[in-house]
Amino acid sequence: MKNDLYICEKCGATMRHMDAKKCGEDLLCPVCGCDALEEAVVCDVCGEIVSAHDAEGLDHDVCHKCIEEKRYDLDYLTEVGKGSLTEVTLNSFLADQFTVEEIEDLMLTALKWRAKVDPVDGMEFLTHNGYDAAETLFEMTNN
Ligand SMILES: [Zn+2]
Ligand SMILES: [Zn+2]
Repeated sequence: MKNDLYICEKCGATMRHMDAKKCGEDLLCPVCGCDALEEAVVCDVCGEIVSAHDAEGLDHDVCHKCIEEKRYDLDYLTEVGKGSLTEVTLNSFLADQFTVEEIEDLMLTALKWRAKVDPVDGMEFLTHNGYDAAETLFEMTNN
């Protein structure tokens, strides 16, 4: 078990294991008394406690709401994509033609453009589809 947190699916109350009511093997919500307790995690971005089903991440737990909100947040995407080969490839591809600010601007535009045509996860776009992103940028800047 990663941590000791639980959330009540019925009333939303959060608690540590020691604060849940015990009834034999069952854990009960100390607020509403139901047994719909789920393991929970703390979102690394917003700090909210959410059910483990509502968060993603290998090294980080990030809630679905934040993933949705951060799709176009370049600072955040760059941060999570740091050290990836893709980022290096992208930057060297564009470095001699554009400033960092221009590249970030273009990537943001490309992300939004891609999301309109075909909903795309920005993190996936930046970390796994480097050539695709570079091509998109190249096409856009040549029009
Ligand atoms: Zn409850
Ligand atoms: Zn969050």
